[in-house]
Amino acid sequence: MLVGCHGLVWSGNFDPKGFELALSQTKSVGFDLLEIPLLDPYSMDPDALSAIQKSYGLPVTASMAQGRDSDITSEDLSCVKAGEAKIMHALKVLQALGGKYLVGAMFGELRKYPEPVTKQARANGQAVMRNVVDAASEAGITMGIEVVNRYESNMINTARQALDYIDEVGKSALTVHLDTYHMNIEESDLFTPVLECGERLGYVHIGESHRGYLGSGSVNFTEFFHALNYIGYDGPVVFETFSRAVIHKDLTKMLAVWRDLWDDSTDLATAANSFMRAGLAGAANSRTGAAG
Ligand code: MN
Repeated sequence: MLVGCHGLVWSGNFDPKGFELALSQTKSVGFDLLEIPLLDPYSMDPDALSAIQKSYGLPVTASMAQGRDSDITSEDLSCVKAGEAKIMHALKVLQALGGKYLVGAMFGELRKYPEPVTKQARANGQAVMRNVVDAASEAGITMGIEVVNRYESNMINTARQALDYIDEVGKSALTVHLDTYHMNIEESDLFTPVLECGERLGYVHIGESHRGYLGSGSVNFTEFFHALNYIGYDGPVVFETFSRAVIHKDLTKMLAVWRDLWDDSTDLATAANSFMRAGLAGAANSRTGAAG
């Protein structure tokens, strides 16, 4: 299992300077990988970033979401087309960095929707997903669709909805990406959804109920870590947090980050790394004990 850190712990932009800061700090705290946001993959310089990634040797993953003009789950075909091109470009950037996972809400825009998703919009997005999942597979990249809360999507709020969506897409290479922050809002518990996903769980975000320090909120991490252990999950487990202390020009607004949950990135990340490793080890050890 690879224990990772989200880039927004360190930097709000991922130009070569911001990328190097995030990479070097993530490595020095002791994480196994760095996740970077690819909301605007066209602004990235793959060659420059690749050279930096190679010099640190730390694996990189990427997450993304769409903007208003690139939502693939739309009845506006120009939007759908722009969103498909954006995902394809994100795959190219990630491939240049040797990344193996593209995750997040690439299926839509993160915002509060005033009405349910339409059948046509859903079908348009799923047609795009068939194409991009095939392209990802060819590039050796696993895609995971993130289950997010009702204020950020009107389509995928539970693990069950994600599994149904993937069944309709019909590509077994497409996996579910679960995030404890969102699960804590929408799911009945943090154990059952993990079991429902089983081997179809491809990526995990570890976020507290207020997205601040792990262990300082109301998420039942013990239950979640036991569930991961129970299904034998061995994919990435990545700490995700947001504070006004580090601002991303788009993401901060999309996710309604209005408060300062922390201001010392190193202290926060060091605590999160220890918290996740202790929780995962605890779950693994308790199971060994139970089995005698
Ligand atoms: Mn997340």
